[in-house]
Amino acid sequence: MKNRLITLSLYLFIAGFSTLPAAAQQLLLTNGTLLDPSDRSSIKQHLLLDHTGILARLDSIPPDFTGQQLDISGKFVIPGLIDMHTHVFGNRAPNSQSETMGPAAAAQVVLQAGVTGFVDLFGNEERLFEHRRLQRSGLIDGADIYTSLSCLTAPGGHCSQFGKTRTIANAQEAKQHIGELAAKHADVIKLVSTIGGRLPSLTPELLKTAAEEAEKHGIRTIVHIHTLADIDSAIAAGVDAITHLPDDGVISADLAQRLAANKLVVIPTLACDTDEYEFMFSNVLQSALAQKVAAERILQGYQKAASEMTPQQKEQAKQRTEKYYQSIKNLVAADVVLLTGTDAGNYGTLQGFSVHREMEKFVAAGLGNWQALASVTSAARQFLAKPTGLQPGAQASLVILHSSPIADIRNSQQIFAVVHQGKLIN
Ligand SMILES: [Zn+2]
Repeated sequence: MKNRLITLSLYLFIAGFSTLPAAAQQLLLTNGTLLDPSDRSSIKQHLLLDHTGILARLDSIPPDFTGQQLDISGKFVIPGLIDMHTHVFGNRAPNSQSETMGPAAAAQVVLQAGVTGFVDLFGNEERLFEHRRLQRSGLIDGADIYTSLSCLTAPGGHCSQFGKTRTIANAQEAKQHIGELAAKHADVIKLVSTIGGRLPSLTPELLKTAAEEAEKHGIRTIVHIHTLADIDSAIAAGVDAITHLPDDGVISADLAQRLAANKLVVIPTLACDTDEYEFMFSNVLQSALAQKVAAERILQGYQKAASEMTPQQKEQAKQRTEKYYQSIKNLVAADVVLLTGTDAGNYGTLQGFSVHREMEKFVAAGLGNWQALASVTSAARQFLAKPTGLQPGAQASLVILHSSPIADIRNSQQIFAVVHQGKLIN
């Protein structure tokens, strides 16, 4: 009842301004079922929105409504998807020339997959900064760009092999770089721990100093991990999230419990670690959505690679997959918050498309469909400190689906239309 009163008063508030020209830019989605992962509600209501956000949920269509109206009878509305770990380089495949996208092009491509926002965790700092500035000034379109801008690593550490990045060798440098990134409003701080790996790693002491420094600036930290020792280092440092799964073993039930107790969020990039094999040996790339977001030569590159793979390589890939799945199963059992990150830009991923694969894999590892949907919507927005859900006040970025992802998570790929900040994208 309370909800109804709020809905009604909001409608009256809006109706009071219906003669203003802004009303023409309003969009009314009628007769759809609204699936809100933030409270797991499934309600058939009309949804009124504009570029500023969701305005109201209505039980009847206002008779004097003059904005754009779209009948979505039989369809399902979910919040726009967020990719929590990507690189806007474009798609790549073995035996194929890579695509070169950059932030502006990637932001357009991923919208096709329902991804209305993404977190770029390292690329060209100046370019990312500039594109984000242009987008936030309303000068360029596309999915919302959030970014760490740079990747803070040890001198010669991971990330530095891909191009210019910021390196930290001591506490003074950690403070200086984080201060500079904070001044440029980095949305998150990315740190790298690769203890026991080939490349130099931030020490546990430096990781802690950096995490404390980021916290002083009110910016959340995401740590790229490579081994089980990195997870211990991340827990001790008090960071907010880790990304990737350890390569040297399985996250045990005990370790998963410790992650949960310390409220660490995990962005596993499971699809990135396991999909290269499936791109070659299953029908995944025949999906209409995969074909929409990647060039033909990329899809063919995987087919060609399949024919070149030895039985031994296939066996190794299967074993690696089993190891990663076991880590995810233990994380799910311990109720660790999982977020979907594709690590797109790497082999075995496609920009935008891979968030759907990540959700599918979470469900295969035991996560419920509502939780999987939350991992790519409300939980991700919560991490970014943005309003979540499908209630008035939330961002008007939505995906309209032909079928319910609560019935079958793979239905997230059955996209009828995408709405980004109140604007209907076909
Ligand atoms: Zn990455």
